[in-house]
Amino acid sequence: MILAGYRLELWGVRMNRIEGGCHCGNLYYVFEASTGLEQLGVRACMCRFCRAHGARNSSDPNGAIQIDVRDPAQLVRYRFGLKTADFLLCAHCGVYIGAYLPDENGGRFTVNVNTFCEPPPLEFPLVPHDFGEENKAGRIERRKAKWTPVTSFRV
Ligand SMILES: [Zn+2]
Repeated sequence: MILAGYRLELWGVRMNRIEGGCHCGNLYYVFEASTGLEQLGVRACMCRFCRAHGARNSSDPNGAIQIDVRDPAQLVRYRFGLKTADFLLCAHCGVYIGAYLPDENGGRFTVNVNTFCEPPPLEFPLVPHDFGEENKAGRIERRKAKWTPVTSFRV
């Protein structure tokens, strides 16, 4: 399934270009996925934050994401729990777009697919995940292995 936009060639690989962002347009991203959401999977994280937002999350370690913030004063970087990632919310419209793990290579991101310009249907298969037992090192390791490389984060 191609959810939004079109396919393009990137490094010789066919990529699915998916645009999305918060409701008011302050936070915007282009997610280039190497395959469809059926293959990537959509996760329902069982932490209280994701449950409260009804977040549906996906990521692609073989993809790329570019994030743009128009008004940095309206970007909230919320940290909780082990405090290894920034959960990015728009302070103006309140939407949660995904979580950012900073690292030495530009960082990693997991995206809330509800914020795609054309989100997957409500009946899209959702796999519950509970990461509550992870320690800090294990959590960072998993995210570096599974989340999407951030190729640009303009604030
Ligand atoms: Zn907004």
